[in-house]
Amino acid sequence: MLCFCEKNDRTELRVEADVAVDPVWCNRCSYNLELEDLPLSEALKTELMNWVLRYGEWIDWDHDDRLIPGGLALETTHNEEGKRLTERVQQELGADFRVVFRSSVFGWLMYRKPVPFQAVYNLYGILPIYPPWLLSM
Ligand SMILES: [Zn+2]
Repeated sequence: MLCFCEKNDRTELRVEADVAVDPVWCNRCSYNLELEDLPLSEALKTELMNWVLRYGEWIDWDHDDRLIPGGLALETTHNEEGKRLTERVQQELGADFRVVFRSSVFGWLMYRKPVPFQAVYNLYGILPIYPPWLLSM
């Protein structure tokens, strides 16, 4: 398995979804690994690829990368499936590897629910202006 690390006596991998990549990375140098190079069952590889291809179902790419309605729930479900797949990768690779999972936090980072109007008014003496799409979540 080739990455930027010179020599690992204990291989650390990370399962993380992103757009148009394989879902497994070297957790030390963050090199995106070829799924085909990993000694995993074909069934698990297929599930991993199906999972990574669904990354971003919750993002409206055509409209400023906003969250689609119900997007947070989709992202959460995708993360839960990712955790389960990570456990299976760890099982198949065995004790020579350490496999961790990194969640997608797109929705939570960018589209947290707005602070209540009254709380902002109490603090600053003005009413906040939130974009309508944020309020409709
Ligand atoms: Zn590496």
